[in-house]
Amino acid sequence: MSIVQMSEALANRIAAGEVVERPASVVKELVENSIDANSTWIKIDIMEAGLQEIRITDNGDGMSKEDADKAFLRHATSKIKNETDLFHVTTLGFRGEALASIASVSRLQIKTSQGDKAGTFLSLEGGKVKEQAKSDARKGTEISVADLFFNTPARLKYMKSLHTELGHVTDVLNRMALSHPEIRFEATHNGKGLFKTTGTGDLLQVISQIYGMNVAKKMLPIKHNTLDFAIEGYIAKPEITRASRSYVSTIINGRYIRNIPLTQAILRAYHTLLPIGRSPIVVLAIDMDPILVDVNVHPAKLEVRFSKDRELYGAIEQTIKNKFREITLIPEMEQKPRVKEKSFQHSLEFNERPNENMDIWKQDPKVVFESAQAFSQTEKAELAPSDDIKVVTDESAPQSSETEANEVKTFMKGTEKPRVPTIYPIGQLQGTYILGQNENGLYMIDQHAAQERIKYEFFRDKLGKPINESQELLLPMTFEFSKQESIFIDQYKEDFAKVGLLFEQFGNQTYVIRSHPNWFPAGFEEEVIREMVDQIMNEESVNVESIREDAAIMMSCKRSIKANHYLNQDEMFRLLEDLRKTTDPFTCPHGRPIIVHFSTYELEKMFKRIM
Ligand code: ADP
Ligand code: MG
Repeated sequence: MSIVQMSEALANRIAAGEVVERPASVVKELVENSIDANSTWIKIDIMEAGLQEIRITDNGDGMSKEDADKAFLRHATSKIKNETDLFHVTTLGFRGEALASIASVSRLQIKTSQGDKAGTFLSLEGGKVKEQAKSDARKGTEISVADLFFNTPARLKYMKSLHTELGHVTDVLNRMALSHPEIRFEATHNGKGLFKTTGTGDLLQVISQIYGMNVAKKMLPIKHNTLDFAIEGYIAKPEITRASRSYVSTIINGRYIRNIPLTQAILRAYHTLLPIGRSPIVVLAIDMDPILVDVNVHPAKLEVRFSKDRELYGAIEQTIKNKFREITLIPEMEQKPRVKEKSFQHSLEFNERPNENMDIWKQDPKVVFESAQAFSQTEKAELAPSDDIKVVTDESAPQSSETEANEVKTFMKGTEKPRVPTIYPIGQLQGTYILGQNENGLYMIDQHAAQERIKYEFFRDKLGKPINESQELLLPMTFEFSKQESIFIDQYKEDFAKVGLLFEQFGNQTYVIRSHPNWFPAGFEEEVIREMVDQIMNEESVNVESIREDAAIMMSCKRSIKANHYLNQDEMFRLLEDLRKTTDPFTCPHGRPIIVHFSTYELEKMFKRIM
C-alpha cells in the first residue's frame, strides 16, 4: 500500500457526499449564500424536484471576477479568515465547501455582478470550468445547478421519488423563509408557484404565507430576554397540533437548526396540553452572542452546540409555560383581582381538606333539588353502568355496540385515584355544557370533550394491545388513490406488508385490500388505511403506534355525544364520574379544555360578598 494525496477533484466529490445529500441540500446551501450576500429578494426555481435544475437568483452583493474564479475552489470563503473568526461566525456559511462540492456533482452556471461594471459568467461541469465570459451587470448572483449527480450514479439511485425530494426542498425553503422574514422569497416548481413571502419582516405574516391563515390566527407571540438570550417567536395554541415534529422550527442567529434537547424543552412546556403523539407548531428565533454557539459540528451546519445549554433550554421552557399561564388556556374564570397564582390543574386536584361550608350547597333546595335525587341514588349504589349513555347521536357515525359499551364500563372501573373531585350536576346549558357544583364551587363541563376523553382512553388502551393477526375480509375493499399516493404505495409496499396490509394493484391508481390487521377498528378501516398512506408520505415509514394513537382519537371523536344533545341528570352524573376516572381529565384528545371552574372564592368575589 502506498499513500497518495487525493486530487482536488476527488476530494471535492467526497466532500459532496457529506454536504450535498439531495436536491434540498443544494437549495439550502445556495439560499444560504444569497442570504449571506445581503440579498433582500431571493428567487428559487426548481425543475423536477431539483434533479433537473435548481436556479437561485438573488439581488445580493454579487462577486468580482476574481472572487467568482475562487469561489469554486475547496475551502475558499470570504466569510472567515482565521481561527478566532470561527468562534464568532455571524454568517450562515463559513466552511467554503458548498460551491466546490455542488459544482463537482452537477453542470453549474453562474452569473454574478457587483453592479458597477460588467458581470462574470462561468460554466462548470463536474467541477471543471468549461466556459468563461462577461455577463450583464445586474447587481446580484444567479446560479443554475442542472443534472445533479449526473456523474455519481450511485447517489442518483439513492434519490427517493420526485415527490419526496420536492417535499425536502419545500421543507428547506419554508425554514429559510421563517428564519428570514425580512427577505422576500419567491419559489416555483416546474413553473408553478410554490410560495411567496412579502419580506416585510413580520414573522406572523410569513407563518401565514407558509402554514396558512388558519394556523397563523391560532399563534401566540412570545418574547423574552435573558442576559444571554433574546427569545422571540410564535407558538401555536395547543388546540392545533400536527402529527410530525417538522412543524417545530428553531432558529439560532438567523440559522435554522435541529437540536433535540431544544425541541424537547418546547414539548415539555406544552406537556399535558397536547394529546399523546401530537406535536405543536412553533417558530422560535433565538439570538445570542455567536461565542455561545458552536456551529462547526455538522457538515450541513444543521446541528450546533451551546455553551449555556441548560440555561437556554430552561429559559425556553419557562417562556412558553408563562405564556400559557398568562392566557389561561384552560380557562379558570378569573375576576379582576387575580386569585393567587396557581395552575388550573392544581386547583382541580382532589381537595380533601375539610371545609366548614361543605354541606351548605347540598342543603339548598332551590339549587340542587333535581340533582340531589339523581346522586342520592347513585351515591349508595355502585356506579351504574356508564355506557347507559346510549347517546351516540351523530347519525352518520357508527353506533357503539353493546359489547363496546360493556367494555368501556369495565375499563373505566379499573382506573385508580381520580384527579377531579366529585361534581354534582345542576343542569345542562344549551344542550352542550354540563353545569355542576361541589364544595369547591361551580364547574362547566363540555360534554362532547368529556366523552371524547373517556372514549379516547378506552380506545387507546384497546388498540394498544398487540394482536397482529390478520383478518380476511368477506368483501375485499377497493381504494382509489391520487397519483402521488400510488407512487408512495408502490415504493413502500413492503413496509405496508410488514404491518399486515397488502395492497394489490388493480388498475392505475386503484388497489384492492383483501385482509387487514386485527386491530383495525371496525367501521374505521378505510380511515386507518388512508391514515397509513398519509403517514408514509410524510414520514417515509409506518409507525403502527402513532397510527393507533390517531385511530383512537378519531374513533373517540366520532363516537362521542355531540353538542346540542339533551342529557338527563343520571347521564350527566355518570359522564362526570367516568371523566374523573380518566388519567387526564383536563383536556380532550385534541388538547381543548374539558372543565372550567369558578371557585367559591371567585364567585363570592364576583358578587362582592367578600372584598
Ligand atoms: P461559504 O458560504 O462557506 O463561504 P461557499 O462555497 O458556499 O462557501 O461559497 C464560497 C464563497 O462564494 C462565499 O464565501 C462567497 O464569498 C461567495 N458566494 C457564494 N454565493 C454567493 C452569492 N449568492 N452572492 C455573493 N457571493 C457568493
Ligand atoms: Mg455557503
